[in-house]
Amino acid sequence: MTTNVSIIGLGLIGGSLALALKRNPEIVITGFDRSYKSADEAYRRGIIDSVAPSVKAAAKEADYLIFAVPVAATAQLLHEAVLWDMKPSVIVTDTGSTKQPIMSAAKGLISKGITFIGGHPMAGSHKSGISAAIEHLFENAYYVLTPPESCPPDDLERLTSLLTVTQGKLAVLDASEHDRMTAVVSHFPHIIASSLVNLLASQEQRQPFVRRLAAGGFRDLTRIASADPVMWRDITVQNKEELIGQLDRWLSEMQTVREMLKNNDPGSIQQFFDEAKQFRDHLP
Ligand code: NAD
Repeated sequence: MTTNVSIIGLGLIGGSLALALKRNPEIVITGFDRSYKSADEAYRRGIIDSVAPSVKAAAKEADYLIFAVPVAATAQLLHEAVLWDMKPSVIVTDTGSTKQPIMSAAKGLISKGITFIGGHPMAGSHKSGISAAIEHLFENAYYVLTPPESCPPDDLERLTSLLTVTQGKLAVLDASEHDRMTAVVSHFPHIIASSLVNLLASQEQRQPFVRRLAAGGFRDLTRIASADPVMWRDITVQNKEELIGQLDRWLSEMQTVREMLKNNDPGSIQQFFDEAKQFRDHLP
């Protein structure tokens, strides 16, 4: 018996998910992307079994429908999906980096009796597009699922079992809990990385040589500033409340560091680095 999985958005995440799901020989994958070039590459590389002519056509035959498009597009498509013809037993999920706005956008679909379970595979790259897709992307990474309260336990079980082949560590979280935690560990670091790079760019106007000195530490810390700006615009806007809170806490922390320097207080400065080192050294 075959299982039809339709993936909307054949970029880094959609392509990698298709590659991982194809480890299960019973899965047949239909793909759709608004970029014909991406869909064509996914088909030619054997990442998907067929290309759907439209998003609605991809949804129609699906047993599982996975949105792997940027979060603003996911919210838009979830609103539109209320009018689509789909199997009553379909399970709809997504891969977006924010969860509360996505769960809100899915309310219409859920009240129509369709199962929607939010998803976020917490693995990725600063690269994007189908050419960056790799089969083992999700291995050993957390794959968070955010079912609504009304979700039938059997459906959560079905989706979990479908995703087992990714070899990700599946975890169920509340959507707001997810957004609070990812603000700290993922979204906020993107703002800091980009601001450090912008700071370097502005200093370069006065000191052109500074670019050449931006080696090791600076590169490590700012790698994620090379990620897709449109994707990160959408994530930042969707998680803005959490990010504003995080920025306030960070500004207050920076103010404390500023005071330590102004007061010429080496003991406190060492303690600042010491506490961070202790915690960082014990991260898994
Ligand atoms: P990507 O840019 O590599 O791929 C997105 C694909 O979606 C592109 O091929 C694009 O053409 C297509 N697309 C955009 N709008 C569309 C629409 N309306 N209809 C059909 N196709 C459309 O992005 P990605 O890195 O694969 O990210 C996809 C999702 O996964 C995002 O929601 C992102 O938040 C999430 N995510 C990303 C990462 C990461 O590190 N990149 C990690 C985990 C989750």
